[in-house]
Formats: sequence, structure tokens, C-alpha cells
Amino acid sequence: MSSYYIPLPITYRLFYSGLLGPKKALGQQTNKTNAMRKDQLKIIPLGGLGEIGMNAMVFETHCDMILVDCGLQFPDASYPGVEVLVPDLSYVLSKIDKLRGVIITHGHDDHIGAVPYLLREKSLDVYATPFPQGLIEQKLTEFSGVQEIRFHKIEPRKKFKVGDFELDPIPVQHSIIEALAFAIRTPAGLVIHSGDFKHDPLEVSRGEVTFKAFQEYGDQGVLLLLSDSTNAEREGHTISEVEIEKSFERLLGAQTGRLIIALFASNIRRLEKIFGIAKKQQKKVALMGRSMHSYTRLAVEQNSLSIPEDTLILIENIEKYPEDKVIVLTTGSQAEPRSALVRVAEGIHEDLQIRKTDTVIMSSRFIPGNERAITRMIDNLYRAGADVLYESVHQIHVSGHGFQEELLMMLKAVRPKYFIPIHGEFRHLSKHAKLARSSGVEESSALVIEDGQSVLVSPQEMALSEKFEIQKHPAVGSLFVDGSAESLQAKHALAKAGIVFVALFRDSRGKLLSEPIVSSRGLLLYHGVDEAEVLEKAKIKLSKVNDEYGDREDFEEIVKLETRRFFRQHASLKPVVIPILVSRT
Ligand SMILES: [Zn+2]
Ligand SMILES: [Zn+2]
Repeated sequence: MSSYYIPLPITYRLFYSGLLGPKKALGQQTNKTNAMRKDQLKIIPLGGLGEIGMNAMVFETHCDMILVDCGLQFPDASYPGVEVLVPDLSYVLSKIDKLRGVIITHGHDDHIGAVPYLLREKSLDVYATPFPQGLIEQKLTEFSGVQEIRFHKIEPRKKFKVGDFELDPIPVQHSIIEALAFAIRTPAGLVIHSGDFKHDPLEVSRGEVTFKAFQEYGDQGVLLLLSDSTNAEREGHTISEVEIEKSFERLLGAQTGRLIIALFASNIRRLEKIFGIAKKQQKKVALMGRSMHSYTRLAVEQNSLSIPEDTLILIENIEKYPEDKVIVLTTGSQAEPRSALVRVAEGIHEDLQIRKTDTVIMSSRFIPGNERAITRMIDNLYRAGADVLYESVHQIHVSGHGFQEELLMMLKAVRPKYFIPIHGEFRHLSKHAKLARSSGVEESSALVIEDGQSVLVSPQEMALSEKFEIQKHPAVGSLFVDGSAESLQAKHALAKAGIVFVALFRDSRGKLLSEPIVSSRGLLLYHGVDEAEVLEKAKIKLSKVNDEYGDREDFEEIVKLETRRFFRQHASLKPVVIPILVSRT
């Protein structure tokens, strides 16, 4: 999927650069793929393999194609200015007439977040349970120019057909409600896609979840298992949500000041438990943060969350209750910029100011990449006088992804012929493949692949097929931006060394009409070096360049090179240089 550059007007490029380029490049692959045999299944991970986030997996037969999940990823500092990353959907777009539907395992952003972007290109059939459907609908209100979306409601253990595929949604436990694995009957054989899962036998608050379905499919014979690897490095078994509930029961029971609990708004079961404990202890709960409101509202509307009577209060009203009766559930557990808890920590939230009697509970993992922002926020909360509790010290969070013992349970229940670990960075995938081999999968039948590596499976064999070059598509808000390597490189150069503008005014014969204007932004100069002085010297130097090269055709390039050379020699800097030449006739 190598990209190529199409010179388009900038507004057009904003919308399409991410998608158009690779689409064409991929068109050339079409013939090859059309030659698939009827008993073959092709699998192409477009995201989520070799990285955490933006999960999207293509399942293709000789005549049909489905996409399981279509998620996004939140970028780290290597994508300055980019709000989200969306998987490279050009493969799907190049064969869009074959696409029979998008199947959603659950409502986390790394599984549904990119649906609106795909919907810009083509109307879609989306198969989802009510909760992720509601979340996608909420997202779509923020997007313009999307095409028609046709939702098909799916229910646990109710099989449905999409093109060549018959899917059986199997409920699994995870950190969001309505999480599913799928047993997928394909022309090549039976495939199990685990979705995100863990196994928590003590947690039966909404019906028992067992591995029975997986065991039964295992008895029938499963050709291929694709299984969640997020926690493949962690030994043992996740602790039960019941333990977390007990911790909260203790913490609320011993409460002397206000309790501010930060957690993911999508963790509806945990929210429900905190509401339940609050009710028992006659306390009041206030919600803070936009997604805390939108997720709970959706879950209540869909009867997936029951909030006990006389428990919920408005955040504006917390002052009306004694401190030891007030619990605030808030977003911002990852210290997302502008989130409620970050504003509280900075003392700029209008409804909540931290007091010395407050305790903040971080009931979530510190997602890699966010640690620095989170620890800065925690420092600010301490500065403001609060006490802060977090996972490493107290049992107030457990992952939604199974540890090694649970992964082994899945492998032993399913007993697949072939195995591909999914959802994880390379080391997680490798570790998971090892586990699979230890559970009886043959050495060569456990394949570790990364995004873009397609695999052909038939009843007799599983083999690597074409490798597509996968790009991550950066988006700012709801728009794709020019995600080419050059533009990101330029942003890094700007961030690293700043920018210098050089303006030269010349007559028709190339004679300077006035002194050059040299200005800069964001230059990081050594201590004691005066910026004005450096710029003045640059000015003198550059007027000499005009004397030397004034009539050269490539004068602009010369100015650029000379300016760079000057700053390298005089300030050890490599700024971005923008020459502006104005000729008067
Ligand atoms: Zn998830
Ligand atoms: Zn996930």
C-alpha cells in the first residue's frame, strides 16, 4: 500500500489524502486476489497487530469480504498535533463492492472509532449490539458528509449470516458491557475471533459467563483461533472484579472527606457497582465529564445500567451534602488534555475545587504513553492538598484483558489447528504464540504476523500471502490530514529547531532595495546567546549573499542554504528556513 502524491487543492486533500493514494496502488492487486479458491479464506489485519489500538481485521473469500472491528488509536508525541490515528482502510476501499458488512465486537474506541471515517467513503451495513450501536450513533453526530449506515442488531448466541460467513456472537467478559467473541463459519472452516476478553468466574452480576461455547466449538473442530494478546506477558489470572468491589466497599465505608473516583466511562459494570455501594451506605454520587454523562445516559436508556433512586446528584449540588457522603465519578483517568480531572487538578474546574480532605482514586491502568501526563496530574492533585490512591498500591483496578492462565483456558477450550495472536504489540503476540505451542498447537501452526501481512487459510494449510504496506492515517478531529511522512517530518523539524523567515526585496536586476528582514520563532538558543544579535548578524550575512548570487535563477535555494549554514555555524541550530523573495519591476 505504498502511497503516491496527487496534487490536489488543499481543502480536497484534507478530506481525501489519507485514502485516495493507496487505493490506486492497491487496485493492481485485484487480479491476484480474484484468483482465490472457493475453500480459501484470506485474513488481513489492518490494525491492532504489532500495536495496541485501532483494531481492524479483514476476512475475505473468493466472493465476499467482512471487516471485524474498525477502531482508532490515540497517537503519542511522535504525531504532534494529530488527535487520532485511523487504520489504513485502502484495502477495503479498493474492494468495496465485496464488503458485506462491518462486525463490531464491542464499543471501545479502538474497535469502533474509525467507522465514521469509512462511512465517508461508502454506505455500510454494521452488525452490532445496542451499546456499541448507540456509541457509533453518538459519534456520527460529530461527523459531516457521512453516508447511510444500516445497523443490524445482533444478540448473544443468535447466529446470523453476512455473505459467505455465518457468525455466532459469544458473550465474553471485558471492561465494557456487551463484549463479544465470534465463531465464524467460513468456506475454509470454523474460525474463532476472541475479541477482547478475560475470564472472571466470580463475577456473575449479570449472568454467568463460561467458556462452554468455546469448548463446544472446540469439540466440533476449529480451524483457526485469533485471540487477544494484550496481557500475554502477565502471568497468572486477573483478579476478580468482585475484589475491586470489596476494595471500593472498604474505601467508601472508611470515607471521611469527598471521594473523587476516576475511571473509564465505558466501564459501566464498575460504575454500577459503585452506585450500588453508595446506595447501601446512603451516599450521593455526582458525575463529572462529558463522556461520563453520555455513556451513562446511553446505558440507562438501554436498561444496561440501573442507578438506584436518591443516589445521583448534580455536580453543582455537592456542597449541599456532608463531605463524607459525596462521591464524584469523573473522566480524565488518562489525564487527557481538557478532561474534567485535569482541570480539577489545575484548579480551573468551575464545579469542584480540591480540598485537603479530598481523596482521589485512580481506578484505571496508566496506559503507556500517558504516564507522564498522569503523574503530572497526580502531582497537581497532591499540590492542591488531596490524597491520591492508584492501582499499584491498592486493589482498585483490574484489566479487562485476560492474563496467561485465561489465554491458556481459551486455547485449551478451542484446541485450534492454527493460531494467530491478535491485539498486541509484537512481544505480546510472540509470547502468546509460545503459550499456544505449549498448549499443543504445532510449532509452525502458530503464526505471528503484523498489520498488513495477509494470510491464506484452507482446510489443509495456513500460509503467508501478500504483505501490504500499511500506513497510519492521522486525523485532526473528524478530518484526515496530510499524513505523509514529509508533513510529519516537517512538524518534528519545527518542534526541534524552530523556524527562520528571510525576506528580500529586490529590483528587476536583482539589486537589494532594502536590508533583508530576518525573523524567527521558537529558536532554542544557548544560554547567554542573544536572539536579536544572532538575527542581526544573519541579516548582514544575507545581504552579502545577494551581492554574490543576486542574479542566479536558483537564488531562493541559495538563500535557504546560506541561512541554514549561518545558523548551524553560529548557533548550532538547524531551523526550518522559509525564504521570501519579492521582486519589484
Ligand atoms: Zn476493549
Ligand atoms: Zn481493544
